[in-house]
Amino acid sequence: MKKYFLYIALVILLFILIPIIFTSRFERIKLAIADEKIEEKIDKFDYGKYSTIKLLHTDTGKVEKIDLDEYLVNVVAAEMPVKYKEEALKVQATVARTYTLYKIINGGKHKNADICDDSGCCQAWISKKDRYKYWKTDCESKWKKIQKAVSSTKGKIITYKGKVINAFFHSNSGGFTEKPLYVWGGEGYPYLQCVETEGEDGYSEYSSEVSLSKEEFTSKMKKKYSDFKIDWKKEDCIKIKDYTEGERVNNIKIGNKTMTGVIVRNIFSLKSARFSIEIRKR
Ligand SMILES: [Zn+2]
Repeated sequence: MKKYFLYIALVILLFILIPIIFTSRFERIKLAIADEKIEEKIDKFDYGKYSTIKLLHTDTGKVEKIDLDEYLVNVVAAEMPVKYKEEALKVQATVARTYTLYKIINGGKHKNADICDDSGCCQAWISKKDRYKYWKTDCESKWKKIQKAVSSTKGKIITYKGKVINAFFHSNSGGFTEKPLYVWGGEGYPYLQCVETEGEDGYSEYSSEVSLSKEEFTSKMKKKYSDFKIDWKKEDCIKIKDYTEGERVNNIKIGNKTMTGVIVRNIFSLKSARFSIEIRKR
């Protein structure tokens, strides 16, 4: 029996976009405390009322008050492999600090805490004990490497027009970042723009592939649209209509339905809306 397979070849990883990119395109983004004179005084930097954060441990429900930079060591340990170069760890520390401060200042999702330890909700955090268990060897020197990345960037945050930005971050943007407009709608976050992120194809998780039988495909579509219909004999039964500025699928027609690339991404659990589709006969 002939079987049709629909291959959704996916070209990215991370479900969105968002860049914290330190390029000349973002002239208004600056490291707030980036000049060398301040760098020399960095140990004396005072976060004022933001020096302590309230961290919610999601497994126990307990809220812990913790020094901001102490907290960040555990965040960087959870968010980035320790084998990455020092400069990368420093950038991660700066972005995580900015993200955390934004949550404290603007209020996050939690009533009694500024932030939680769940990466799916706020920002990943791992205890030193758990991290050591995973590393197994050279734990002290690895921990020190991360501590150094945090302490050497102490006080550094990213601002836009004098205000701390909402510093989303990702592990791989698939080579191009996206504007929030195409993901969440609205005109928020003017500092997040489409930029090319060269070299990401050299890392794992740059792309992935999802393959489905015709029946599986139809069943997933029907869960979203109960009146969904498709005529597989038609050459243009699936047609991408246009792309976003971030080179993702903007609108696509599938059978009798037209939808955004983000919707397709959600229906088929794709890593992003930067995908191509291939219908193969077998
Ligand atoms: Zn949270």
